[in-house]
Amino acid sequence: LKANFCIFCEIAAGRSAASFVHRDETCVAFMDIRPVTPGHLLVIPIQHATYLADLAAEAGTSMFAVDHRLGGALRQSGLKVEGINLFLADGEQAGQEIFHVHMHVIPRFEGDGFGLRFPQGYGQLPPRDELDQQAELIRKQVR
Ligand SMILES: [Zn+2]
Repeated sequence: LKANFCIFCEIAAGRSAASFVHRDETCVAFMDIRPVTPGHLLVIPIQHATYLADLAAEAGTSMFAVDHRLGGALRQSGLKVEGINLFLADGEQAGQEIFHVHMHVIPRFEGDGFGLRFPQGYGQLPPRDELDQQAELIRKQVR
């Protein structure tokens, strides 16, 4: 499913520069060149997958293990890390800009200016039967 040039495949292959913090058989992790906050990392599977649905389950598991370890490393790094967000944008409408699966590991601190914006009406509790209907639609598709 690899369509043309992919910058993350280039980075994983060592053909494009990056500041690496981790490499194993499945994943690499490196500094985001447009950090939200200092220490902002990207964790990617070495094998190209455009969307989460294309990613092998084992690669997803390995990726999360790396996210977990790097979260710990960030907290010990001396960088300003009061909290951490893991963020994965799957699809253009979700904010994905590079079409090779990647997890953002973003250091957070009081007053960093970053955050999620909620839609109007957020916080109103939907009726239980609506949640149950949605749960059923999803449950039928869990593989
Ligand atoms: Zn790629």
